[in-house]
Amino acid sequence: MLKCIKMEYTVEQFDDIKILRYEVPAFTQLDLQQKLFVYYLSCAALAGRDILWDQNNRYNLRIRKLLEKIIKSYKGDITSTDFEAFLLYAKKVFFANGIHHHYSMDKFVPHFSKDYFISIANSVGITPEEDLLKVIFDTNYMSKRVVLDAGVDLIESSANNYYFGVTQKEVEDFYSDKTKGVVHPEMWGLNSTLIKRNGAIAEDVWKVDGKYGAAIKEIIDYLEKAKEYACNETQKTVIELLIKFYVTGDLKTFDEYSIKWVGETEAQIDFINGFIEVYGDPLAYKGSWESVVQIVDKEAGKRTSIFADNALWFERNAPIDDRFKKDEISGIVARVMQVAMLGGDCYPATPIGINLPNSEWIREEYGSKSVTLDNITYSYEQASQNSGVLDEFAYTEEEKTLARRYGYTSGNVHTDLHECLGHGSGKMLAGVTTESLKSYYSTIEEARADLFALYYIMDKKLQELGIVENDDVAKCEYNSYIRGGLLTQLTRIKLGCNVEESHMRNRQMIASWVYEKGRAENVIEKIFENGKTYFVVRDYQRLRELFGNLLSEVQRIKSEGDYQAAKDLIENYGVKVDYSLHQEVLQRYDKLNVAPYSGFLNPNYELIMKDDKIEDVKISYPSSFLEQMLAYGDNYGLL
Ligand code: ZN
Repeated sequence: MLKCIKMEYTVEQFDDIKILRYEVPAFTQLDLQQKLFVYYLSCAALAGRDILWDQNNRYNLRIRKLLEKIIKSYKGDITSTDFEAFLLYAKKVFFANGIHHHYSMDKFVPHFSKDYFISIANSVGITPEEDLLKVIFDTNYMSKRVVLDAGVDLIESSANNYYFGVTQKEVEDFYSDKTKGVVHPEMWGLNSTLIKRNGAIAEDVWKVDGKYGAAIKEIIDYLEKAKEYACNETQKTVIELLIKFYVTGDLKTFDEYSIKWVGETEAQIDFINGFIEVYGDPLAYKGSWESVVQIVDKEAGKRTSIFADNALWFERNAPIDDRFKKDEISGIVARVMQVAMLGGDCYPATPIGINLPNSEWIREEYGSKSVTLDNITYSYEQASQNSGVLDEFAYTEEEKTLARRYGYTSGNVHTDLHECLGHGSGKMLAGVTTESLKSYYSTIEEARADLFALYYIMDKKLQELGIVENDDVAKCEYNSYIRGGLLTQLTRIKLGCNVEESHMRNRQMIASWVYEKGRAENVIEKIFENGKTYFVVRDYQRLRELFGNLLSEVQRIKSEGDYQAAKDLIENYGVKVDYSLHQEVLQRYDKLNVAPYSGFLNPNYELIMKDDKIEDVKISYPSSFLEQMLAYGDNYGLL
């Protein structure tokens, strides 16, 4: 279905970023009511953009407005090296929704002088304030958005804007008191900034008459409009509860909303809109604002419904202790969707799969909904063909052939297993909460889902179910996982730095753990040839067993809340990088001239009117990153 329109997927490349587009062929097949539903949900998805900017750092919005003004009004030499450096800095800030890299979390270093910046600002009638200049040019100030290093105060050293004037200890005490002994705990802290004022600690709640009120009001207005076109009555209730949550800020309402949302599985259009993921907070309380609007891809959805129908079989046969298994699996909903609009923390850098809600007890009692965003993975696949990365880092011809033949399939099957079964599997022992693992929780949870996928992708059951045709799909996935975890993901890290981001820590942890444990048996062989390092899988079955062993341990850590074991595992395997290997990988990668990160432009939707009546909604695919960024700033600059 995706191949019907011919389009250029790669739009442009700058610094370490590649900008892509995604197509939404499913949109054109909707009727007018459904199109209007997508249209208003899309407006709501864009209306919260400024919230995320402010969450990422408290100077972000002021800096962005300054950058926008200069780009739009500067009349001087725009071909000079200085202005080009300025424009590059601005694009990086736009892409990252702030002054810190979206993935490494490091603050961007401008490659133009403070004097130059002041001069171009002056020329458009602005005198930049001292505090803004300090944030932009003082590299040591607010240098990292999310700090996860052991041994420092994670709250005081992180430059995000979720806390003000509090220490890590104070935050932990403030929230742990609220959840102790509660059976159905709300997601405390999810929708507020925690502030110390005059010695007292209090939450500044994000709601329509509170913090971020102006943006939240606009989101609500669009949701009200969208509600009229909802696919069914349950979906109407979902929207009403979401609006109520935005009005009251009450986390109990958010739980009610999540339960309704997870139970709504019939609609052809679905959406996420709210304070959802907690990766931006080293202590994993605060939800960054995000939104995704999606349309069901019926054809491609067959695979995930097979997984969902067989979920209990996978749970029963998982290589984990029976005490940590669920007795029944309720409400696994796994769908393949096409993204129609990305907003907040999902834009421009985009997830390829989503599993929600995040509330652990709701997941256990009501299940979860998973989506694979297949127009995103398709676009990635199209853009990555012939990048040269595979040829550089894969050692054998067989490995390259497998990757070319099965790369797209194995990636999608892995994502489906990870999202639809992995995150939803297992249970925690009574009294244990996700908080026990503190800053290691996200990495452990991602590892659990990845290991579940890696273990099962080689299971004969998948062939029985008709998901994959042979073992080659699993072999392809194993090769690429090991190559990614031990080599190619290092291209995303600056030389001399540690691995910080949770998903990356997880991948390195898994890959280096199985490499070490299988070393004596040569499960994965390390080869050094002509100055180049390769890792070659030699025993796929044994590797699968090792994935199973680690899954068992990671599940135990989560179920028991074993903080020390989580810390040891991640710090020993997932954080540190071998300097000379890192240097080598970066040199090899540099020669290929490919950007390690990608993100997406959104399509535009436009109401087509005839005699004051809406006749249709037109979709179009823009091709300028900067134009889209400036337009969003104009139309949705609400804070
Ligand atoms: Zn995940």
